[in-house]
Amino acid sequence: MSLSILLNGAKGRMGHAIAAAAAEAGLVICAATDVGDNPAASIARCDAVIDFSFHAATRPMLELAVAHRKPIVIGTTGHSPADKAELLKLAAQVPCVWAGNYSVGVNLLFALTRRAAQVLGSDYDAEVVEMHHRFKKDAPSGTAERLLEIILAERKLERSALRHGRQGITGERTPTEVGIHALRGGDVIGDHTVMFAALGERVELTHKASDRGIFARGALRAAQWVVSQPPGVYDMQDVLGLK
Ligand code: NAD
Repeated sequence: MSLSILLNGAKGRMGHAIAAAAAEAGLVICAATDVGDNPAASIARCDAVIDFSFHAATRPMLELAVAHRKPIVIGTTGHSPADKAELLKLAAQVPCVWAGNYSVGVNLLFALTRRAAQVLGSDYDAEVVEMHHRFKKDAPSGTAERLLEIILAERKLERSALRHGRQGITGERTPTEVGIHALRGGDVIGDHTVMFAALGERVELTHKASDRGIFARGALRAAQWVVSQPPGVYDMQDVLGLK
């Protein structure tokens, strides 16, 4: 089905990547809006909304989508937990995909990590290593945080089990810790490896991003999927059938 999309945040890095990916996929951007524009003028003629803009822009965009009963894909990040809880209630009134990472590969990595943590018990030491470009201002990455949440949940461990890097005389590794290591350098868009190491073998699951287009293509895949769903909030695991 060829969709008509209202793209909010169209002048940003992701906006450009989504417009390029839409052109490749034969999807139509029927309205491209950014700060100062009025999406109310064009939403009626679009099938779905994609929002990769700014956290403060999510509420008005979502209210407009709800008023016009339009499905929406939200990629914008940076909402406070309280804000996000409010916005999710609003989002549930229309078909909505909301994900912190739209890469198909990363979402498969989440599912594979859960499966590996289920099969490989606490005998297998779990460590997460991520690498990003030298300009990144926070660590560990949001994607690494999600991988850690998955491992902690499967192993029934609290966040106090996390070991951020190691230095000095740490003593032997305990089976109830999960290591996390953040490397920074160059122009790396985002690499994540999850390791499960036992005596005699090691399993490594790695994802490497080399192009922001992966998020754009994932968001478009979410838009094509969400238009035929009933109202509710979904994530990329739903879109990809990984639940
Ligand atoms: P960017 O700063 O390059 O672009 C953001 C765009 O939004 C800008 O053009 C800006 O003018 C516009 N904008 C700001 N306020 C607006 C408003 N009130 N209404 C409409 N447009 C407004 O940022 P980016 O790299 O394109 O990322 C955009 C968002 O998407 C960020 O929140 C980022 O964290 C998120 N992101 C999510 C994923 C994912 O997979 N979920 C991937 C990449 C980026």
